[in-house]
Amino acid sequence: MLEAVEETLAAGHQVLVFINRRGFAPTLSCHACGWLAECDHCDARLTLHRQPPLLACHHCDQRRALPDACPDCGSADLRPLGSGTERTEETLAERFPDVPVHRIDRDSTRRRDALEQTLTEVRRGEPCLLVGTQMLAKGHHLPHVTLVVVVNADAGLYASDFRALEHSAQLLEQVAGRAGRAAHPGRVLVQTMHADDPHLRLLSARGYDALAEQLLEERRVAALPPFRFLALLRLEGAQEAAVTELGGRAAAALREHLEARELDVDCLGPVPAPMERRQNRYHLQLMLSAEKRSRLHEAGAWLAAWLEAEPAARRVRWSLDIDPQTLS
Ligand SMILES: [Zn+2]
Ligand SMILES: [Zn+2]
Repeated sequence: MLEAVEETLAAGHQVLVFINRRGFAPTLSCHACGWLAECDHCDARLTLHRQPPLLACHHCDQRRALPDACPDCGSADLRPLGSGTERTEETLAERFPDVPVHRIDRDSTRRRDALEQTLTEVRRGEPCLLVGTQMLAKGHHLPHVTLVVVVNADAGLYASDFRALEHSAQLLEQVAGRAGRAAHPGRVLVQTMHADDPHLRLLSARGYDALAEQLLEERRVAALPPFRFLALLRLEGAQEAAVTELGGRAAAALREHLEARELDVDCLGPVPAPMERRQNRYHLQLMLSAEKRSRLHEAGAWLAAWLEAEPAARRVRWSLDIDPQTLS
């Protein structure tokens, strides 16, 4: 990757380095005992930022000063773990000191016009490096970029959601679309620990349409959308016990109803949401799936009516999402 960056800059072109992680590093860890900086309110790690220096939760916005020592063992050997846009910017600026490095993410563009100013500078066409998050994937015309480097694509590719691969491939396609749209053809390099993954190979050899066809076939076999319809009941509340209790009773009542009415709808759960605790609230899910959309709507309407009539549901926030686009 570094060689390709060097060649591209030497040829007088620009390079886009895409990393879908803002901040300096995904978290801070203690090298002595393995402690990791975690949010007090969410099941999530705190992201290490350097500009300004702090630990921040990207889910609830909790901010904390950087500790001088490990809160568990007292060691001062605290180290950043992994890389975000700030660290990538720093590393590239050290490696290519004669070329400007522009970082584009939500933190660097907080000031009004900051993004436009940077893009105007980039469009003048001098060799430079752009480091950015998915903010950069969409819409911006960058005619002088002829190399796109995607750093650590695996986090998105192998997330738990069944649509993760589809969404990541679309993002890669968009990022790749930034390269070589003017007179010069572009090149895209993707960094992965799973270079032999058949899906990635298909995407790189034959493009998004071929991958989409393959994914469709897999969805058909696994009875997932668009071959089956889904609805997701999300429950959340400050009291874990109240949420769990209501979720369990709602599922039992729904199953009884489905059986009595002989409705062809499957009910899965309740199960904890992928991030169970967010902003000190507990999140639980119940999934409904059906081959016929009308059956799904019938079951969903019955479930919503049951919850509306249920006194315990007043202390728990709930929502019913038909065709959920994410399962989080
Ligand atoms: Zn420690
Ligand atoms: Zn948090």
